[in-house]
Amino acid sequence: MIAESKRESGCVPNAYTASLWGSLNEARFPSLCPNCGSVATKTLVLSKVFWRSSGDDRSQVVISVSVPFCDECTARHRAEAQLPSLRSNLLSSLNGEMMGSAMFAVAAMWTGYHAIDELLHGRMMIFMLFAVLCTVFGLIANFLRKSAWRETEGDRIQPQTAVTRAFDYTDNDPPPFESPRYECTMRNERFAAAFKALNHEIEFVPDSPEALADQRDADRRFWGVGAVIAVIVLLLYLFR
Ligand SMILES: [Zn+2]
Repeated sequence: MIAESKRESGCVPNAYTASLWGSLNEARFPSLCPNCGSVATKTLVLSKVFWRSSGDDRSQVVISVSVPFCDECTARHRAEAQLPSLRSNLLSSLNGEMMGSAMFAVAAMWTGYHAIDELLHGRMMIFMLFAVLCTVFGLIANFLRKSAWRETEGDRIQPQTAVTRAFDYTDNDPPPFESPRYECTMRNERFAAAFKALNHEIEFVPDSPEALADQRDADRRFWGVGAVIAVIVLLLYLFR
């Protein structure tokens, strides 16, 4: 079965749109504020979480981008934004892996304590054994902690504010076999015109030679995979 991706996070229907190839971190931004069109002096990091599904698997993808904003709009955003507390950040990461990480951390502390005890008593062989175990448990605990933090990143994303909604974007997860592309929506006309001019070369234009070539490549890959599957099925049938 061909993996099919599904976009669930909506995009703010701003007045101006641009469709671009690739990923958002390849796009260039003008030094203008997407909310009011004034000269931008600061940048805000916008993050959005997208759900992608492939077969029965569902996973979160966080796409972040630094977008320039002017002083005034940045201040308005900061006044409106609700920063999550450290407590809610920590609670958000409590999944099975984080519990596993805590257990390995306890095991690392226990073996570390015994390693020091054995060292103080001059029993080097047992000290080495406990030291190795302590290191291994510590590394596993750290690996699980990082993995849990990454897995739950989507739960710590700040909601958009009236200001950051001035620039929004979709996931760039393409239909099967096609190249990644995404859509941006923008509130301010001046910003939108400058943004489009800067990213003219990577703009996705339906029915353009590039778009048609990508569609042809996707069809070719689709039929290529289909042919391989057909051959495997035929071989299984002949040699069953
Ligand atoms: Zn502004």
